Amino acid sequence: MSDTIFSKIINREIDADIVHEDDQCLAFRDVNPQAPMHILVIPKKPIDMLVNAEDGDQALLGHLLLSARKIARNEGYGEAFRLVVNNGEAVGQSVFHLHVHILGGRDFAWPPG
Ligand code: IMP
Repeated sequence: MSDTIFSKIINREIDADIVHEDDQCLAFRDVNPQAPMHILVIPKKPIDMLVNAEDGDQALLGHLLLSARKIARNEGYGEAFRLVVNNGEAVGQSVFHLHVHILGGRDFAWPPG
């Protein structure tokens, strides 16, 4: 997998507003927020797309979701938030390092556009 802007954030080569870090993941505020809370949770392991995650990544993927829940609670949006994973350019993926969007703080439409 080639370097992305997110691997540069992990390596502290570029700045980000980091809200959480542990041995497996990093979370930071989206530079172009689509809601009052818009945070990205990324694995430190370079996985470009969810479709390319491996069976051995099961615990890591669970960790991303549980971290997202913890972060949303810490931000004060405990029980009402949306998680989004864009997989593929056609559905809006623009950075090819797996990330979970955490969105909250406003009403959301369904189905998403
Ligand atoms: P995607 O469209 O699902 O791939 O989401 C990529 C997200 O990364 C978008 O919401 C962008 O606004 C966000 N983004 C791109 N570059 C940066 C950055 O340098 N810092 C924080 N967020 C970024």
